[in-house]
Amino acid sequence: MSKSLLIRNIRHLVTCDDQDRVLEHVNVLIRDGVIAAIGAVGEPADEVIDGSMLAVYPGLINTHHHLYQILTRNLPEVQNLELFDWLRALYQIWKNLTPESVYDSSLAGMAELVKYGCTTVFDHHYVFPNAHPDLLPTQFAAAKRLGVRMTVSRGSMDLSEKDGGLPPDSVVQSLETVLRDSEEAVRTWHDPACYSMRQVVLAPCSPFSVSADLMRESALLARKLGVRLHTHLAETKDEETYLLKKLGIRPLAYMQELGWIGPDVWFAHGIHFNDEELKLLADTGTGVAHCPASNMKLSSGVARIPEMLKLGIPVGLAVDGSASNDGSSLMEEMRIAYLLHRLTSGDQAPSGYDILKIATRGSARLLGRSELGQISVGSAADLFAVREDRLELAGATFDVTSMLATVGLKGPVDYTIVAGNILVKGGSLVEVNDRELSQKVHQHSLSLRSKI
Ligand code: ZN
Repeated sequence: MSKSLLIRNIRHLVTCDDQDRVLEHVNVLIRDGVIAAIGAVGEPADEVIDGSMLAVYPGLINTHHHLYQILTRNLPEVQNLELFDWLRALYQIWKNLTPESVYDSSLAGMAELVKYGCTTVFDHHYVFPNAHPDLLPTQFAAAKRLGVRMTVSRGSMDLSEKDGGLPPDSVVQSLETVLRDSEEAVRTWHDPACYSMRQVVLAPCSPFSVSADLMRESALLARKLGVRLHTHLAETKDEETYLLKKLGIRPLAYMQELGWIGPDVWFAHGIHFNDEELKLLADTGTGVAHCPASNMKLSSGVARIPEMLKLGIPVGLAVDGSASNDGSSLMEEMRIAYLLHRLTSGDQAPSGYDILKIATRGSARLLGRSELGQISVGSAADLFAVREDRLELAGATFDVTSMLATVGLKGPVDYTIVAGNILVKGGSLVEVNDRELSQKVHQHSLSLRSKI
């Protein structure tokens, strides 16, 4: 049966559409998970929301995360380390992940994202302990429970400590196992349809934990199956030095050699690219997931986002894993991105609205989802709404397009809607009990620490 939701008399509708329209006092009608009409819609609906005090935005889209890292936030032992040492220390904990801890941490991370306006989550899961090689169903079950749209990666690592890599032997897999499981994951879980709630990406972890053969074969397999490719790249100078010393090649040239370039590829971080490399990304439509909080925390550097935007490189926003953020709020990430580039690029920095577009349209482009990231007729009904009479926004609502990045939002959004379903109402999750979930995650976290 057809299901409808009407948001009536919206005070400001920030569409992020191709004309960057901001509409006032309009109605949005949602039918069967899709935006059916915008304007003076007169017909009745199953459910009606009063929009007279609301600013309504397209849902935010997260393009890089490691949800299991919720379990290792704020660990005193790693707070002063940079990427390589930080990873070595944390793998000793992550190697003991279980399906239960992955389910609860995935649910908690996605729930936090949703509370702050996110409607599509991409997770880069690449730790598959030998005892638990099949964790994707667990993650999709968590997304379904919450009602959020999700893309999961079948990540992988095949270089362990004995090969000069960083992870312990028990969390790496052979090339044959990875390729077999990746193909099965795509065939079982990937729904390529428009408005799909469930997609799969192939995402070997990084050039320093994955062999050249696995990178190359993953690219061939992804193209055979019609799915996207993702990995970490150009995150630190250590990575650059590692590849230059080991193979005499810079990270992007290395990836290009392995077939990892093009509009179906996006890299997390992309900090240490030189001018020619930026041009190559632009010419090939290869994308970058910008993770400013993580980059600041791990002292990795500042991605050249203003130049990337000018060159037309696809750029999306991401929180990165919770061990290097240490949270899951794209709302906070937007403000951090805005302030970081103001500091380092001055008047060349992206505007508050540019940042919102990165987190919506830019992120949707990285995931290859043109039906997401905007509010227009025929788009997926993924959006969030904020009351304009909140104290922290007093006097700031005359430019609602930039407000979320320049002023920031200090609490959860008032509504988050995914595929026409209300996931957050009045700042609270509809389907998930925050406190119960928080306690479960805390127990998993204690249990993992006790095994160190
Ligand atoms: Zn990451």
